[in-house]
Amino acid sequence: MRRIFRRPRIVVSKCIEFAYCRYNGDMISSDLVARLKEYVDFIPVCPEVEIGLGIPRPTLRIVRMGDTDHLVQPETDRDVSGEMTTFARRFLESLPEIDGFILKNKSPTSGLRDANVYPSAGKSAPIGHGPGFFGRMVLERYPLLPIEDEGRLRNVRIRDHFLTRIFTRADFREAKTRGKVRDLVRFHTENKYLLHAHNQRMLREMGIIVANQEGLPAGVLFDRYEALLGPALARPPSYRTNIDVLLHAMGHFRDRISPGERDFFLRSLERYRDGRASVCAPKNIVALWIERYDEEGLRNQTFFAPFPEDLIEPDPAETDRGRDFWKVEG
Ligand code: SF4
Repeated sequence: MRRIFRRPRIVVSKCIEFAYCRYNGDMISSDLVARLKEYVDFIPVCPEVEIGLGIPRPTLRIVRMGDTDHLVQPETDRDVSGEMTTFARRFLESLPEIDGFILKNKSPTSGLRDANVYPSAGKSAPIGHGPGFFGRMVLERYPLLPIEDEGRLRNVRIRDHFLTRIFTRADFREAKTRGKVRDLVRFHTENKYLLHAHNQRMLREMGIIVANQEGLPAGVLFDRYEALLGPALARPPSYRTNIDVLLHAMGHFRDRISPGERDFFLRSLERYRDGRASVCAPKNIVALWIERYDEEGLRNQTFFAPFPEDLIEPDPAETDRGRDFWKVEG
């Protein structure tokens, strides 16, 4: 599939591949963020530097006092909770429409779920975990956006789901900017299989919106559709729904493929169902048929190319780029 991808707009923790702004003057390297620079419009931000803490700086920690968490700098005895909250509110309010966030894990400022929470500013063991101060406000303000930390994005399934969501959102944003009913129809048509794999109930509701029996103006349709798009993609597809979509797609070629090809495809689906192969195998077979027969009904289905193929990262164990175990020592 030769799909044209719109550029997602993503807020990223500045210390990931953008600046040496960590507390110790370091930068975090992330292969994914580095490669995404070609396809994404990033908005990098370092909230700790933005509130004037400098580089390098004494570390911050979240301290629970009664029912309230505070962001404190033990070495200087400063409580920067108010400054951080004010900065985060202003920053988030100033953003244009965005498609997602990639934040640094474990940070008391930018973390999303795994920042340590301490009982005191002094030497003590953590008593729990939670989001950082900035991370929490991001989660509260954008409950339906794809928001991940760089640690979780190392997992192939989480990463593929995140990439699918941000490129789908960017495409939707483009359709909304164009603003005609036909733009919404185009978006819905091209994403039918993708939505089917993610959430069939939502797909039906979205289809009703697009059918527009009430003759509503385009702006209302886009708003209603957008309210469902986030929840529809919130969970990744299951292997059952992926198989459902792939069988459906095979139906387009029923009269054109040989019995041998059909069996080969069904065997690859079976291996995927049994957890012995990834979904890529049967997907690639259908993608090949789409190319060979120039199948109009599937040619533009984003299910077969949810994000740029340069971003597909195979498991190193599945490629032959690793260590050569057969090398004869000289
Ligand atoms: S985790 Fe957030 S606050 Fe800390 S250095 Fe990175 S961007 Fe700055």
